[in-house]
Amino acid sequence: MTALNAIALLGAWEQAAAQTPVRRALTLLAAACPEKTAEEWAALPIGERDRQLLAVREKLFGTHLEALATCPECGERLELNFKTDDIRTPPPAPREEVEVCADGYEVHCRLPASADLLEAARPDAADAREVLLRRCVTLARQADAAVEPTALPSPVLDAVMAAVADADPQAEVRIAMDCPACRHRWSMDFDVLSYLWSEIDDWAPRLLRDVHALASAYGWSEREILALSATRRGLYLEMVAEDGF
Ligand SMILES: [Zn+2]
Repeated sequence: MTALNAIALLGAWEQAAAQTPVRRALTLLAAACPEKTAEEWAALPIGERDRQLLAVREKLFGTHLEALATCPECGERLELNFKTDDIRTPPPAPREEVEVCADGYEVHCRLPASADLLEAARPDAADAREVLLRRCVTLARQADAAVEPTALPSPVLDAVMAAVADADPQAEVRIAMDCPACRHRWSMDFDVLSYLWSEIDDWAPRLLRDVHALASAYGWSEREILALSATRRGLYLEMVAEDGF
């Protein structure tokens, strides 16, 4: 994975702005690692996709993360500072599917990937959960009789979901929280995609404002300004500000 340059990232931002989160993740990954096709990215289990997004985030904005939370018990506002390593789970052994035996049923289930979520979110799709089950459950039987994935009893489905979560831990990152005011403990979801997207969505307009300032001052084209390193852009901006343009 190479560091995205400003031109490529700006292009990805423009494209991703109108997309759903699942598509957005694929657009960002395709921009960061064009050596993989869109289909290959879409076929990665969600946890593996998020592991790659975390690597993109490190390349773009570093390893330090910040988040705000409110204690659900006492309302205390907490400011969290953590590192990308704190939320990176060890890569699980590569596997295509999990096998679960529960309540006399045997179920094999593929780890859900972005392609599955995209299918489940199609406007013409029936029930999203049903689409996911039909796509990801590769075998379901009771004794020797095949069972429709959607007809599996809830406790069996719960066991399958738990096995999928164990096999793809990066897909659901939770941060342990401890309120300093009332000692309440809970855990908070951390979604690397929405975190990274809000950073990019904040960065892009700021960069365009810098382009505007430099283009106005020097008459350079957008492409010329974006091709400058962030350091050089920053120094020119300081000079423009000093000269009171
Ligand atoms: Zn509290």
